[in-house]
Amino acid sequence: MKRRDFLGAAVGISLIPTKLFGQAAPRVVIVGGGFAGASCARALKQAEPRIAVTLVESSATYTACPFSNAVIGGLRDLKAQQFAYQNLPDGIDFARTTATAVDPAARSVTLADGRRLPYDRLVLAPGIDIRWDGLPGYDELAVDRMPHAWRAGPQTVLLRRQLEAMEDGGLVVIAAPANPFRCPPGPYERASLIAHYLKAKKPRSKLLILDAKDAFSKQRLFLNAWNELYPGMVEWVPLSKGGKVTSVDPATNTLVTDFAQHRAAVANVIPPQKAGRIAEAAGVADRSGWCPIDPASFESKLQPNIHVIGDAAIAGAMPKSAFAANSQAKACAAVVASLLSGKAAANPKLINTCYSLVGPEYGISVAGVYRPADGQIAEVPGSGGVSPLEAPPATRALEAAYGEAWFRTITGEVFG
Ligand SMILES: Cc1cc2nc3c(=O)[nH]c(=O)nc-3n(C[C@H](O)[C@H](O)[C@H](O)COP(=O)(O)OP(=O)(O)OC[C@H]3O[C@@H](n4cnc5c(N)ncnc54)[C@H](O)[C@@H]3O)c2cc1C
Repeated sequence: MKRRDFLGAAVGISLIPTKLFGQAAPRVVIVGGGFAGASCARALKQAEPRIAVTLVESSATYTACPFSNAVIGGLRDLKAQQFAYQNLPDGIDFARTTATAVDPAARSVTLADGRRLPYDRLVLAPGIDIRWDGLPGYDELAVDRMPHAWRAGPQTVLLRRQLEAMEDGGLVVIAAPANPFRCPPGPYERASLIAHYLKAKKPRSKLLILDAKDAFSKQRLFLNAWNELYPGMVEWVPLSKGGKVTSVDPATNTLVTDFAQHRAAVANVIPPQKAGRIAEAAGVADRSGWCPIDPASFESKLQPNIHVIGDAAIAGAMPKSAFAANSQAKACAAVVASLLSGKAAANPKLINTCYSLVGPEYGISVAGVYRPADGQIAEVPGSGGVSPLEAPPATRALEAAYGEAWFRTITGEVFG
């Protein structure tokens, strides 16, 4: 029988360590059940079944961000993004609650109900939080008017509804943040799929991307594709041309830059971000808001026995993507299993591929292989690449299909 929601009933039993290697079985607590945390829990249990693994996750249902732009573009239902945890393998204790504090000296995690989980190693995989002090005017109330939709769920649906309610001829504005942020190609994929919807249903409308940077992931591929698929509809304003949004006014749906004020019919503000808040509470986030880690072990540079993976970590050249989070999770699990059994950990090799949809049958991608080098996670020279600038429609259609296949595979692997 699978043990579920153990904290509700049987917390005492799960917290008593059994004997392993002649001593108490090592306990690993993992906070965050996303692409990083849920994946790490599985990989750890598989690597060493005798380790007591507890996965702490706030939500009963995980709503995945990859392909959520297709929900906003009207190509997909939010249900296709949602996954429950009932298929976690036997032996992983699932604690459906929020971790509120960490005591690195005592090596324990405090949960929302006041209980404490002791650990030998803690893995933090909390994803992102919004920097509420990062953009004047954009506070927790502003999200109802100017959705970020950067954590998938109700925000995704709200942005979709706003687009549906907009009259033909309306101005849609996307505010894209400076680096680093979750999913570097995400704002541009979103612009593409919104343009796809507008072209079909509201062809007199315009889409403006106000950007806090001068370059972005897969830039030439996106710009070429917008000219080809959505001519005259999408305008990208880089930082050097006054694209950075300096404040917003949710009451009037206005985005302010150094040179202009843009009153939007629909405003999608993707604000500056930081590691999920438990990272700060645990003392593993630095002044950047993200978590510095050892590139070989993912162990925090600020607190011993705590590893940080996924979007929350400063992972050098690796982008903040689900693919990367999953790759880091497996490598981290191998390291933690080795450390707990007194074996030397192998140097990890990490991979990433980010697929983006520019239209329903038009996919592009960027890929890379990464290894620790000079204290960072660095891209292996010559390892990666992007889709060709010139390619026939069949190639773009194939990449769109590869992207969907990747999503099916990874969600199957992580959530069962
Ligand atoms: C629009 C969009 C499109 C994207 N498309 C792609 C794509 O095509 N391909 C790709 O690879 N990536 C994509 N990404 C990026 C991808 O979603 C993230 O990189 C990925 O989700 C990171 O995984 P994670 O596990 O670090 O964080 P998350 O997936 O955010 O998971 C973190 C989990 O931790 C939980 N949590 C946080 N704090 C606590 C706490 N204190 N206690 C308990 N639980 C907690 C949260 O509830 C959450 O379930 C996209 C992102 C966006 C926004």
